[in-house]
Amino acid sequence: MTVVAAPIDAADAATAEHSAAQAEPRLRITEIFHSLQGEADAVGWPTVFVRLTGCPLRCVWCDTEYSFHGGGWRTIAEVLTEVAGYGARHVCVTGGEPLAQKRCLTLLAQLCDAGYEVSLETSGALDVAEVDARVRKVVDLKAPGSGEVARNLWSNMDVLLPHDQVKIVVADRADYEWARERVAEHRLSARCQVLFSPVHGRVAPRELAEWILADRLPVRMQMQMHKLLWGSEPGR
Ligand code: SF4
Repeated sequence: MTVVAAPIDAADAATAEHSAAQAEPRLRITEIFHSLQGEADAVGWPTVFVRLTGCPLRCVWCDTEYSFHGGGWRTIAEVLTEVAGYGARHVCVTGGEPLAQKRCLTLLAQLCDAGYEVSLETSGALDVAEVDARVRKVVDLKAPGSGEVARNLWSNMDVLLPHDQVKIVVADRADYEWARERVAEHRLSARCQVLFSPVHGRVAPRELAEWILADRLPVRMQMQMHKLLWGSEPGR
């Protein structure tokens, strides 16, 4: 699927964020919903997802294009209240690219202060160094098949903590070989968990599994459980 370049909502968001009521930090939010975590280390846990609006990337296989634009402004206090209403222990801040709104850092810290198990899903194109150390970061590395390989911010690999995860989405054999080389080159498996995930409809999961086993790679394969359960339905 080819995504037509469009104005970046994150830039609009940053401007409006600045000019908005200064006393009440606000974020542009696409949706807040309760579901099961579909991937990464917390897979299967009931989780509240906070999806921030806007992304400066355009991965060709993106499944959340609806988060590029729109959304609504909410104060961080309002977000915390809505999250609390679900009574879940896990909260995942996602996007879009949540770090494109700088107040995401405040939201993450306040969620940790409130006692949640907090994870952050980020593209890997923006600096994660300022993210609260209590947050479990799931940092993408964009393989060539994404169309965004040039956006990888490699310095992010140096600030990963053992509880973080690097995720590489594999669209074909060339992506797999690129990923295998990057894992070795950056000793990624010694830093944190490395997750390989097949693009739905592009790589048969069994094929990816067999490549990993044949090469004896120290990585963890994952399927997107929410896709198996609910397909591409937004808000699930
Ligand atoms: S970084 Fe994520 S939200 Fe942005 S285009 Fe890529 S897959 Fe979509």
